[in-house]
Amino acid sequence: MNKNKRESTAFMKKVKETNKQGLLFDKLETLQVNLGNICNQTCSHCHIGAGPKGDHIMDEARIEDVMLFLTNNPNLILDITGGEPSMHPQIDRLINFARGITKKIMIRTNLTALVDDKYKHLPEIYKQNKVEIVASMPCFSQENVDYQRGNGTFEKSILALQNLNKIKYGKNENLNLHLVYNPNSAMLPPEQKQLEKDYKRVLQKNYGIVFNNLFTMVNVPLGRFAAFLKKENQYDRYIQILKDNYNPATLDNIMCKNLISVDWKGNVYNCDFNQISNQPIINADSGVVNIRNFNQKDLKKQPIETHEHCFACTAGHGSSCTGSLD
Ligand code: SF4
Ligand code: SF4
Repeated sequence: MNKNKRESTAFMKKVKETNKQGLLFDKLETLQVNLGNICNQTCSHCHIGAGPKGDHIMDEARIEDVMLFLTNNPNLILDITGGEPSMHPQIDRLINFARGITKKIMIRTNLTALVDDKYKHLPEIYKQNKVEIVASMPCFSQENVDYQRGNGTFEKSILALQNLNKIKYGKNENLNLHLVYNPNSAMLPPEQKQLEKDYKRVLQKNYGIVFNNLFTMVNVPLGRFAAFLKKENQYDRYIQILKDNYNPATLDNIMCKNLISVDWKGNVYNCDFNQISNQPIINADSGVVNIRNFNQKDLKKQPIETHEHCFACTAGHGSSCTGSLD
């Protein structure tokens, strides 16, 4: 999208009602790397459309591009996502490399992969490298989790959380364990701190599980979640809910001001959601920006690529990869 178009989307017009300059990239703090769409689950809300047949996997050359970028831009937060990033064949190599040159490493996991024989050695590697774990746990009720993420998911997730607690995740100050809640229907999440209290009480009482923070996320109407909404004839209603709940107070902390997202081919986006909707960052020569040639100075004060799905980030309490915003 060229600069003029970037400044004239419905979302950007809404932003300009309170922020005359619109939404501008500020300073790079987080490199989010999407290792691909392979996953052991096929959740109904997945905006990536990931699953066991996923065939978009970041190759070794692209992993090395990421490593070089981290070397040249030290002290960033490295946020590793997928699919299920624990299933990537180079995950331990990337983490071991990044440990000394990043401010923090975060990995997003669906938990169930961590109890699979093939991957259950990984939590120890995460622990050795003080990797922060951000784990999907959309409810503390078996019925709701299994409905959204497939039968048997809840039981495996509880086992994975108990195993993480055993190696001190959620207990030791250097071993943070966060959980992620997202609604299982066309609605906004409840208030984060109150829901966190309920999660902590129920998980501790019923399963002896402790964790650090709960991140509530708004479902973004893309991928499998968009298909689900359309099938249920709820898509337009959901978009309207997002628009009706637009909250300008969320703009100060919106993640795309300080984050870029890299896909399995090394192409760079303002966020994971623009990646899913295939809206990469375009340079002055109209080429797609790749991690090999990305220079944050080129983006400084550039308008961000915004689209209708951006209303998910500003609805209600707002939403980002680390939960609510206001
Ligand atoms: S939502 Fe997460 S766990 Fe579920 S299919 Fe997508 S990537 Fe896998
Ligand atoms: S969807 Fe991405 S680009 Fe749009 S507001 Fe959210 S973080 Fe920013």
